[in-house]
Amino acid sequence: MLFWNESKNIMFWCDQLVEKLEGPQIINDSKTPSGRAHIGAMRGPLIHDAIFRTLKAKEVPVRYLFGCDDYDPVDEIPYGQAGHFEQYLGAPLCNVPPPPGSAATDMADHFISEFWGVFKELGIEPEFYRMRDIYRSGKFNESIDLILRQAHVVRRIYKEVSGSDRPENWHPFQVVCEKCGRIGTTEVTAYDGREVTYECKPFLVKWARGCGHLGKMSPFDGRGKLPWKLEWCAKWRTFPVTIEGAGQDHSTKGGSRDVAMACLKAIFGQQPPLNCPYDFFLVGGAKMSSSKGVGVSVRGMTDFLPPEVLRFLMIRTTPKHHVNFDSSEAHIIKVFNEFDRLHHRYFNDPKINEEDKRVYEISRVSPELDHWVADFQLVTALIQMPHLDAVKELEKRKGSPFTELDKKQLDLRIRAAKYWIENYATEEEKTRLQETLPAKAQELSATQRAFLQKLAALLPEAKWDGDSLQVCVFNAARLTPIDQPGAFKAIYRVLLDRDNGPKAGNLISFLDRDFVIQRCSELPVDKFDYAEESGSAPEVFEQWLEKEKNKITGITTEFDSVFNPDVGPSGQNPGVGLFLAEFSVNTSDGKSYRKRVLIGRFNGLDSKPELERLETTARQWMLELKTRLGVEIQG
Ligand SMILES: [Zn+2]
Repeated sequence: MLFWNESKNIMFWCDQLVEKLEGPQIINDSKTPSGRAHIGAMRGPLIHDAIFRTLKAKEVPVRYLFGCDDYDPVDEIPYGQAGHFEQYLGAPLCNVPPPPGSAATDMADHFISEFWGVFKELGIEPEFYRMRDIYRSGKFNESIDLILRQAHVVRRIYKEVSGSDRPENWHPFQVVCEKCGRIGTTEVTAYDGREVTYECKPFLVKWARGCGHLGKMSPFDGRGKLPWKLEWCAKWRTFPVTIEGAGQDHSTKGGSRDVAMACLKAIFGQQPPLNCPYDFFLVGGAKMSSSKGVGVSVRGMTDFLPPEVLRFLMIRTTPKHHVNFDSSEAHIIKVFNEFDRLHHRYFNDPKINEEDKRVYEISRVSPELDHWVADFQLVTALIQMPHLDAVKELEKRKGSPFTELDKKQLDLRIRAAKYWIENYATEEEKTRLQETLPAKAQELSATQRAFLQKLAALLPEAKWDGDSLQVCVFNAARLTPIDQPGAFKAIYRVLLDRDNGPKAGNLISFLDRDFVIQRCSELPVDKFDYAEESGSAPEVFEQWLEKEKNKITGITTEFDSVFNPDVGPSGQNPGVGLFLAEFSVNTSDGKSYRKRVLIGRFNGLDSKPELERLETTARQWMLELKTRLGVEIQG
């Protein structure tokens, strides 16, 4: 069951969110370019994009703005780059030179370029803006003036809403120090309506040292910035913003969002934008941090997952729940398969519910026609078989030439599969076709070995395509008999030296017939162990017969006995034998079964009369079956 589909008739979160909105809308989101962006940072842009698309689809006039908060100070050093960045701690991000070798104009440009660079690939197309341009162009001058005049109101709100005390002369503004160029270390103590008085304090923050300079200057046209809670207010007022979600960590009671909302009301008399708090995107269960250099970068994840799958992963879940992503094979395959099922239903299932339809539409980068989908697990296995051309093999499987779109989508899957193998797959998860019988195959049970032998016997006549071979595998399992999981594990073990793999029929169809037959025949079967493992009690067979009897078109039987001289009561050790009745059953749906029934045991000292006794018992029982169930058994 898919996660978002747990309760029927619930609206897609996005539709629910915008349901009551009226009039034109402006959506805003932003990012501080302080380091390499990690994939978790993509959830905000994608959630806002989903809202943007939803409003556009409803023909609501809407704009989506995305800002680069590049007037923020450098407050931590990007992972592993202390040599370059340490001296700039406290300076505005846009005033810091880029790391050596970068083609960017500055640090902010360097980090935001990579982040914004993936937007288009993911189908996110907002109007970009940079805070340096907003401040320097004077767009915020009026808001800055009003906020500075109301500094006492801001101090009161900080105290009332978040409980934080500010000194009597504290003003919500930070200038760029005229002497040392830092912005994170300055504190404004007075405003006369034209200029602010400030001090560049050595110990204002832990992460940077101010130079001690005292000065007086205009706060306008880019000479400084508002603290970010007030910057939020100025954006909301100036642009003006009607919708802006924020991480749940900012949206707690008494948190930044509450402070910003209270200031907006008190200073500008405006209503705050609609919030859409969202939870984290976790990789492997841990919140990612860019400063520690752990986690997965936005660039890395976009090079890995096809854009539709990444969008799907981020937006199908309601924003207030966290999304957990892990790179294990089982999880990746699950994500692809869930997306593929949704794709299939979107194009083929007239009964698909509205919510699923919307999730699919919002997951797409652009509206596209239906296309052929290659199973991700199969693609992953194919590209690990060096003797095969994955594209050609899959085209054969499709049965007609690929369209442009088929090819484009398949290329994305092949890229994803390669990326996963190179970056995430553990040794056990790699699918390597085994040139020789792997050592671990010796651990297979006698029944699994007998199944492989049976399969080898059926393969010479099998039609060599995925579906026919899958049928062949099921037939061999029924004729052994063995439960299906045990059968599949045996196949994966001898071919790939692992417990699982892509659909067995598909896998075999890409291999050479003689090779598979040879491999399946290699393990000898211990007849005694096979009899002991696969021989059921007569009652079990009787129950099965009772259940299936209306379908049965014919049963034949043979008797068989195996003897093991090494097993028996200690001391005398005469050996032990098993006496079996083997039934071959055909049913009206065209299937054939083998059922092995253990009639009894005999010891090896004087076995002949015992065997005769057991055969008599068996015949007696079969006669009774005929009377009780009306089933005719031949032989
Ligand atoms: Zn300074």
